[in-house]
Amino acid sequence: MGIRKEIDESRQGEALLMEAKEGEKGKGPVAAGRKLYIESYGCQMNFSDSEIVASIMMDMGFATTGDHREADVIFINTCSIRENAEQRVRNRLKEFGANKLRKPGTLIGVLGCMAERLKAKFLEEEQLVDVVVGPDAYRDLPNLIGRLDEGGKAVNVLLSREETYADVAPVRLGGNGVSAFVSIMRGCDNMCSFCVVPFTRGRERSRDPHSIRREVEGLLESGYREVTLLGQNVDSYKWKSDCGNETMNFAGLLEYVANVSPLMRVRFSTSHPKDMTDEVLEVMSRHANICKYIHLPVQSGNSQVLERMNRTYDRDWYIGRIEAIRRIIPGCAISTDIICGFCSETEEAHQDTLSMMDYVKYDFAYMFKYSERPGTLAARKYQDDVPEEVKSRRLKEVIDKQQLHSLYRMEQHVGKVHQVLVEGPSRKSDQDLCGRNDQNAMVVFPREEGIRPGDYVSVLVERCTNATLIGRRVQPGHEVSSS
Ligand code: SF4
Repeated sequence: MGIRKEIDESRQGEALLMEAKEGEKGKGPVAAGRKLYIESYGCQMNFSDSEIVASIMMDMGFATTGDHREADVIFINTCSIRENAEQRVRNRLKEFGANKLRKPGTLIGVLGCMAERLKAKFLEEEQLVDVVVGPDAYRDLPNLIGRLDEGGKAVNVLLSREETYADVAPVRLGGNGVSAFVSIMRGCDNMCSFCVVPFTRGRERSRDPHSIRREVEGLLESGYREVTLLGQNVDSYKWKSDCGNETMNFAGLLEYVANVSPLMRVRFSTSHPKDMTDEVLEVMSRHANICKYIHLPVQSGNSQVLERMNRTYDRDWYIGRIEAIRRIIPGCAISTDIICGFCSETEEAHQDTLSMMDYVKYDFAYMFKYSERPGTLAARKYQDDVPEEVKSRRLKEVIDKQQLHSLYRMEQHVGKVHQVLVEGPSRKSDQDLCGRNDQNAMVVFPREEGIRPGDYVSVLVERCTNATLIGRRVQPGHEVSSS
């Protein structure tokens, strides 16, 4: 599945804020003094795209606001991966109706995958919406806003085979100033039968690696200490220079980015079992600053279901990839995506998913009930014939098993010293700081004078829950007594 690493529930719908500094961006007449409010839903790619949109809008002169009541333009960057994701957007749109009453002339726009899926139909279905813009059409925003100002409605949902926004410097919105997303490619050429992404984000295209490296170098200078390279399927990253004398695959890109600085941690998402190579795993094992964590969606543990999902690998192939990870990068954390109750999934097939979980014991998993999406291969070819209550029961069994496995994996970290990249105060108490270890596990430890976000500290983990490691800071090289 593309970038299904959903952004934390707590960030869904987060308003992104950044004030335009005087004289900097935005000399365009269209927008002088006008305010933009962006709300993002769905995956990291959407949040990363909102930073591209903010950059384009600020070039026009917009400032951004975190308060939608004072906005002149309201954008919702939408997700279409499941029915409830779309319903959430429709409910939010109704709430924004009040903005138009309170501040006539307020413009409302929908961006992202739902905009691409519905296209102009969105304007018919949601009268409040003024503009519909697909993921490849953000460069056209100045023109579209201009047309709205003339009083019309506007749509641009053209998908592109070239667009990577490589030359658009994202405006970092929200976030912690320590970790940033860097998009390395767009679109997806896989046609998993349950997925809308190939229809809403188009064909795969890989971004120029030199522009990616420049972005990472810029982030390092600005104090960031971690980047997550984003792509629906990063393993199929493939770039060729215009004159054809230079090419790079994902293993090459990973090494090229890791060599920017040992201070910059490198993560990536999302991998695809059919394309993930040993070469990528070997590059990971050679660089201490490439984090030992892989998100490898399995979706199902049963080969017949995987075939109907058109995942292009079977159970044995997937197990082979897991064994390669364990062999080349011992201790690497692995997370996954699982869909329960896909078309004609039998009880036996469900048991195969549970036994796959027992075999891998994932550190973490995103787990969903199958939600039929209009226009997908599955919607056209297969019956959504697993009863809802059976889907729910199977999902519960998968979630219960994952909670045991998450705790099991977290307990492996207790009694060990981890290098933690400090992200900021812990959510539960500002007496504590938090950050992630190499395996992407959240670590909480007591706040200390002089320790700031972006610092690397050594933490001895003393206890854990199935979601958090709890410890205390120790000196680098601290010996853990075996007694
Ligand atoms: S088609 Fe498959 S690989 Fe591509 S984004 Fe969807 S689930 Fe992921």
